[in-house]
Amino acid sequence: MAKKTIEDIDLKDKKVLVRVDFNVPLKDGVIGDDTRIKAALPTIQYVIDHDGKAILFSHLGRVKTEEDKAGKSLAPVAKRLGELLGKEVTFVPETRGAELEAAIANMKDGDVLVFENTRFEDVDGKKESKNDPELGKYWASLGDVFVNDAFGTAHRAHASNVGIASTGIPTVAGFLMEKEIKFIGEAVEDPKRPMIAILGGAKVSDKIGVIKNLIPKADKIMIGGGMTYTFYAAKGMKIGKSLVETDKIDLAKELIAEAGDKLVLPIDNVCAAEFSNDVPTETIEGEIEGDVMALDIGPASVALFAETLAGAKTVVWNGPMGVFEMSNFANGTIGVCEAIANLEGATTIIGGGDSAAAAEQLGFADKFTHISTGGGASLELLEGKTLPGLAAINDK
Ligand code: ADP
Ligand code: MG
Repeated sequence: MAKKTIEDIDLKDKKVLVRVDFNVPLKDGVIGDDTRIKAALPTIQYVIDHDGKAILFSHLGRVKTEEDKAGKSLAPVAKRLGELLGKEVTFVPETRGAELEAAIANMKDGDVLVFENTRFEDVDGKKESKNDPELGKYWASLGDVFVNDAFGTAHRAHASNVGIASTGIPTVAGFLMEKEIKFIGEAVEDPKRPMIAILGGAKVSDKIGVIKNLIPKADKIMIGGGMTYTFYAAKGMKIGKSLVETDKIDLAKELIAEAGDKLVLPIDNVCAAEFSNDVPTETIEGEIEGDVMALDIGPASVALFAETLAGAKTVVWNGPMGVFEMSNFANGTIGVCEAIANLEGATTIIGGGDSAAAAEQLGFADKFTHISTGGGASLELLEGKTLPGLAAINDK
């Protein structure tokens, strides 16, 4: 999967099209979290330092109608980018046309320009999201080379990634994209062993692809979170009123058979009579008797998982161990997060929006080797799927 990167091409005097992920939370024109803008800085700075002209673009939110455009302009993002870079950033409130073309023609080496939300092109026939070839061709015509640094949309074939690349313009990965491919790609395809996967979250149905892909590749697979109880049901264990997907019980049976002793399930669970943080909890070992639901893995399970993790060289974690949003059911996720964070000499990776949020919220984020920035894209990489946005980048 060796792909060309921004370091493999000459940028001097070039108009460098850079697809970034500026899909930040915006409310009343105020950016709630600028992590994604900061994450794009190394690639942008590299273009500036190498005398290229950086033409940046991104989607922001979903835009289907003219009314949807309100509050989805990239203007505040361009402003914030200027502050972060400490230099002037030109914003063009258009996705195509004379104003954009003139602004690009006026750029000098090292200049930075941002043009409007690519999804504004979705209002009239979903041109961006359906990868209208004319749009990809038009955007490609604005530059000399194309740098794709938007990992978060790499699992989608849109005009602003696949469309531009497929015109034949030289297409390379930015630093963020490169990092994602390196860490997640290597963890799955060529991991240092033992490689251990910890999979949680709400539903088996969301993670089937990941479990299936990782069974032959991982040395151990630990399961936690809501999907645990579908596996319990598959083993004929009682689960009280815990979350279960009855139509996935047969599949869970197959996965159990396929994984054999690689599969490690929780041995105790924190249960409550209601899905609430305000009712008493009890820790139940083994089968879940009574009219309660399991909302977190218990302390014995955390100890078992920590023991299983000892000596791991690669750890991939996707999905919280319980309903960590409620303090009564956060200890399983905290415990596992801590166990991974304390591993020495291991490459530790989080793929998954909620698991990343949990690590962030629990204060462990800086203890991981890599926290993926793309929820859906990282899940699809873990599933072993070919990501169209990634496939469209030139091979080394
Ligand atoms: P990720 O985004 O990391 O891939 P998911 O979206 O699959 O994770 O799952 C996260 C959600 O799963 C959280 O909102 C959490 O509350 C929920 N969850 C975890 N354990 C349970 C459980 N035992 N019962 C119900 N929901 C659960
Ligand atoms: Mg999620």
